[in-house]
Amino acid sequence: MRPQFPVHDLLTVVVAACNEADALPLLHPRIRAALDRLAGLRTRVLYVDDGSRDDTWQVLERIAAADPGVALLRLSRNFGKEAALTAGLDLCTEGAAMILDADGQDPPELIPEFVARWREGWDDVYGMRIGREGDRWFRRGAAVLFYRLIGRLSHTPVPADTGDYRLLSPRALHALAGLRERHRFMKGLFGWVGFRRMPLPYRRSPRIAGSSKFSLWRLWNFALEGITSFSTAPLRVATYAGIMTAMAAFVGGLAIVAKTLLWGDRVAGWPTMMVVILFLGGVQLIALGLIGEYLGRLYDEAKQRPLYLVDTWHPAPAGVSSPQEQPADGGAHAHGTSTAGGQAG
Ligand code: UDP
Ligand code: MG
Repeated sequence: MRPQFPVHDLLTVVVAACNEADALPLLHPRIRAALDRLAGLRTRVLYVDDGSRDDTWQVLERIAAADPGVALLRLSRNFGKEAALTAGLDLCTEGAAMILDADGQDPPELIPEFVARWREGWDDVYGMRIGREGDRWFRRGAAVLFYRLIGRLSHTPVPADTGDYRLLSPRALHALAGLRERHRFMKGLFGWVGFRRMPLPYRRSPRIAGSSKFSLWRLWNFALEGITSFSTAPLRVATYAGIMTAMAAFVGGLAIVAKTLLWGDRVAGWPTMMVVILFLGGVQLIALGLIGEYLGRLYDEAKQRPLYLVDTWHPAPAGVSSPQEQPADGGAHAHGTSTAGGQAG
C-alpha cells in the first residue's frame, strides 16, 4: 500500500538496462559516488534487466553482491525501455525516483542537482540536453522535426530535447502509476501528469560502452507511438482530404459539363481519369491506414495484457534503504509478481 503521507527522505535511482554488460560496471561507481554525496537522504539503486541476452544479469548480481544499496529486477523477456522503466517505477511506492540511462549518457554526477530542485518543491525535474554530441545530424534533424510536430498536434506538453532523464516526486510517481496504457510514450505520460515541472540543462555525453538499441526504424515507430498516443489529429486528415477532393470534384464536374455542352463529348481524357482514380485510391488507402493505426492500438488496449512480467526480484537486503521486500501488492498501484506484473491499476 502506498503510504498516506509521502516519504521525503528516500530516493530510488531506476536504471533500465538491455545488453549493457560493458557499461554497467563503469556506471555503477559513478552513481554510488553521487549518492554518497547526498546527506539526509536514504537512497537505493534499482536496476531493471530488460531481457538482456549478454552478461548483464551476471554483472548486475556482482554489483548487488558488493553494494547493499542495490536492488535488481529481471523481466521475463525484452519488453522495451518504456515497459522496463514502468516496472522499475512501479516498485517505487515510497519516496522519489530518479531515472537514468544505463549507458552513461545521463551523467549521474548531476543527481544532487536534481535532488536540490526536488527539495525546492518541483515535482518533475527533467534533464534538457544542451548538446547532442553522440548523435549524427540526421538524428538531430529528425528529433527537431518530431518535437515540432508533436508540439503542434498534441495538447500534452512534450518539451523538446528531453529524454527520460529526470527526477519524479512521490506525488508525480503516484499519478504516473495510475496510467496503465500499453502503448507507453513515457515523455508524453510525464507531461500528462503535469504538476510543477522544471528543466535542468545538461550536456549529453556519448555512450561509455556498447551500442545504441534504437535503430532509425525503432525511432520511427517510437515517433508514431508518441503521435498516436497523444493526438488524434491524423484522423482528421482524412476528413480534410475528403472535403478538399469533394470540392475539387465539384468544380471539375462543372467544368466538364460546361465543356461538353459547348464542344460536345469526344470520349477523350483517359489520362485524366486514371490520374483521378489513382489519386482517390491513394487518399483512401492513406485514410484507411491512419484509422488502422488507431484501431490496432485500441485492440492492444482491449486485450488488457500485463505491461511486463517479472522473472526475478532481488530486493536490497533488509534494513538497507529498501522500502519493501516484495514487488507484489494489489491496490491502485499494480506490481509484478513472479508470474504476472503491471496489470491495469
Ligand atoms: N533499453 C532497455 N530496453 C530496450 C532498449 C533499451 O532497457 O529494449 C535501455 C538501454 O539499456 C539504455 C536506455 O534504454 O539504458 C537507452 O537506450 P540507448 O542508449 O540504446 O538509446 P539511445 O540513447 O541511443 O537513444
Ligand atoms: Mg543511450
